[in-house]
Amino acid sequence: MASPLQRGIAYSSMAKNVKADPFSKLEIKDDSFLNTISGRDICANCYKSRKFYCYSCYIPTDSVKNLIPFVELPFDVDVIKHPCETDGKSTAVHAAVIAPNNVRILTYPDVPDYQKDGSVALVFPGKKSVPIKEYVKTSLNNSERRSLNKVVFIDSTWNQTGGILAHPNLQGLPFVTFEPRASLFWRYQKGKPLCHLATIEAIYYLFVDYGTAFDGYYNRQYDNILFFFRYMYYKIHSIYGAENLRVNQAKQLFY
Ligand SMILES: [Zn+2]
Repeated sequence: MASPLQRGIAYSSMAKNVKADPFSKLEIKDDSFLNTISGRDICANCYKSRKFYCYSCYIPTDSVKNLIPFVELPFDVDVIKHPCETDGKSTAVHAAVIAPNNVRILTYPDVPDYQKDGSVALVFPGKKSVPIKEYVKTSLNNSERRSLNKVVFIDSTWNQTGGILAHPNLQGLPFVTFEPRASLFWRYQKGKPLCHLATIEAIYYLFVDYGTAFDGYYNRQYDNILFFFRYMYYKIHSIYGAENLRVNQAKQLFY
């Protein structure tokens, strides 16, 4: 894990055009090696030309696979994406690449027949949603409910979400959610249900809230989930400039 000094050095040059660094407190691995990779690789699985990771196979390219961080999550994540969502644009792929033991991406209507014993929960905001912090605590005191071992995210626009939610295999799943946060995503999320967050942000915050509930504080063990997200955030800000972007209002929103 990088020391605060190392993180400061790694980002001082990149952040010079950005008034505030919303990621400065996060413990994310130095990503400067990504800038040394100029071309593309051939994906070892599908043989298509890819940069950093294959958004179809959800694996890193050979150039970066031994350099990117690896995150172990306390329970599994399924992301169900709408077939009309473009693979290359989905930030959910970041989670599958960084936490390959825990995260899989499924395309609707490929929805598993999930256990309905409390061990699987759907991450979705709504009247019936229970904050993940509460869900974890009540599981500990409820012998009839199995402890959480998987959460399901839906990666789609609001209009597509209703159709996915109606899938028979999702009926009867408890809904969990996390504390609302503002997004740093550069691509406006028209009609996204989860407070307009990028899917990778939603995954990250769910685990931040979970870690906080479980340990009593958040010890940053999931920050590297945002490895590619932070890299792309700075890339895009360096291209378009900070003035027009959401950096200033976002600076206090990241931990
Ligand atoms: Zn591939």
